[in-house]
Amino acid sequence: MSALITLNGVNKYYGDYHALRDIDLTIDEGEFFSLLGPSGCGKTTLLRTIAGFEAVSGGTVAIGGKDMAGVPANLRPTNMVFQSYAIFPHLSVGENVAFGLRKRPDIDRKTAVPDALKMVGLAGYEGRAAHALSGGQRQRVALARALILKPKVLLLDEPLSALDKKMREQMQVELMRLQRHVGITFILVTHDQEEALVMSDRIAVMFEGRIGQLADAETLYRRPRNREVADFIGKMNFLDAQVLSSGPVIDLDVQGLGRLQIDAEQSPENIGAHPAVVGIRPETLGILFEGESTDRRVIDGVVDEVVYYGDMTYYDIRIPGVAAPLNIAMKNIIGQPVLDVGEAAKVIWDERSLVLLK
Ligand code: ATP
Repeated sequence: MSALITLNGVNKYYGDYHALRDIDLTIDEGEFFSLLGPSGCGKTTLLRTIAGFEAVSGGTVAIGGKDMAGVPANLRPTNMVFQSYAIFPHLSVGENVAFGLRKRPDIDRKTAVPDALKMVGLAGYEGRAAHALSGGQRQRVALARALILKPKVLLLDEPLSALDKKMREQMQVELMRLQRHVGITFILVTHDQEEALVMSDRIAVMFEGRIGQLADAETLYRRPRNREVADFIGKMNFLDAQVLSSGPVIDLDVQGLGRLQIDAEQSPENIGAHPAVVGIRPETLGILFEGESTDRRVIDGVVDEVVYYGDMTYYDIRIPGVAAPLNIAMKNIIGQPVLDVGEAAKVIWDERSLVLLK
């Protein structure tokens, strides 16, 4: 894939407030790219600088090899879909979609409108009243209106946040399919990590105006670069650790688990011999029930809390010598008991699922 958008040393100030800090970023042609991070971290600001709604205070934004300095939003090869659908309720679906063509008399709306509606799964909806559509259908109309101009880049600012959970999950899959089908670059802003993990080729996780880590979903989840990223993506147990020696194999002394060795790959940043923290995902831990055996490591604890979800049970288990209880996510299997608060529990763990963090 070749680079479509390149940001070099982008900074943005609102008065004294430093909203974007030295952002270097390359987004490829045909990529589904997400900007993920907590509220106020600068995701929307970054999207708006790409769109041209916001001038940068320093650095450059280039699209298709062209510097965008001074190029207004309407002359950039980008189009934006907003959180509030911005659908005109008094117009028909077809009129709403055709609105995207108002400045382009060169495009034949008789074919372009049905084509765009077909793309988003609303073939034949031209004559429907927009106000009678469901939230998901409105969002599709907004997408059709943005896609009708065939932009090189579609910018999506929290496009699914107004939908209920079920519709949001359905639209996640549809957006992903749509992006593959049309093949253009999508840049999505979201604070919902699941949404970003499900849909994106790559994700930039942002904190306070900077990029904490840029990687694909699996790398972000399995090899977060630091505690900040690990804490934001999914759930993670943290245990204090001492790095005793490092090299291809790292020797550690981990609170509650004792002396152990991990592979250098499990330490995303080069951590010297000093205090660090070990991260363990709840679903990589297990419980050894009576009559079962394991060749993995086992540590004794006591159940502190149980949350039963039907398909899963979440346990907090107190381990001697460990400050916070360990959170364990167990898939419920027929025949396996659900433990009660106060019961003894043997926790199964594995060195291979640990990650060493700064
Ligand atoms: P959210 O998910 O809440 O929308 P975000 O990550 O998209 O957050 P931005 O909207 O980019 O965050 O805002 C980043 C910071 O810049 C915030 O602290 C915000 O208050 C500030 N900010 C954004 N726009 C302006 C503006 N026009 N003037 C002054 N400050 C602004």
